[in-house]
Amino acid sequence: MVGEHLVQATAQQPEAQAWYVLDDLALEQPVRREKVADIVARASTRVDPAELPFPAPRHARVAVRVRPGITHTIGGLRIDEQARVVGAEGLFAAGADAGGISTGGYASGLAAALVFGRIAAESALEGL
Ligand SMILES: Cc1cc2nc3c(=O)[nH]c(=O)nc-3n(C[C@H](O)[C@H](O)[C@H](O)COP(=O)(O)OP(=O)(O)OC[C@H]3O[C@@H](n4cnc5c(N)ncnc54)[C@H](O)[C@@H]3O)c2cc1C
Repeated sequence: MVGEHLVQATAQQPEAQAWYVLDDLALEQPVRREKVADIVARASTRVDPAELPFPAPRHARVAVRVRPGITHTIGGLRIDEQARVVGAEGLFAAGADAGGISTGGYASGLAAALVFGRIAAESALEGL
């Protein structure tokens, strides 16, 4: 299970948490310029496998408790191409406050804020 499916599955667990249980092979895997072991070393929720609330796999070296987070809701006010809120004259929205952007799947929240933030400012200036 990878990516968004893993996150969704984790969110549906009791208390929305899961454990990543890692063996030596997993700890040696590269992630960009470091190894999984380097990332795990910084994790405040890492524990010895003996402390897990279930029997650890035989070669487990370390475990990390994980919880999914929400970076932004994706929903929000409906806006037009000029970042005007539909049905609310004189009101503009961008970024996390605007919806209808990630309709085909996740699209960058930062991009939505940068692009529509500027458009909203320009549209508001035009109305002055
Ligand atoms: C942990 C995390 C990781 C993320 N990673 C990514 C990523 O990798 N790529 C990506 O594209 N997006 C990412 N996002 C999403 C992205 O950060 C947001 O979608 C984006 O910042 C939304 O921009 P915004 O300007 O709409 O809102 P915000 O960035 O939330 O800015 C709103 C600002 O308004 C201020 N504010 C609120 N209320 C008031 C008030 N009453 N008066 C004055 N100021 C107020 C807040 O303090 C804040 O500074 C991430 C979000 C989180 C939380």
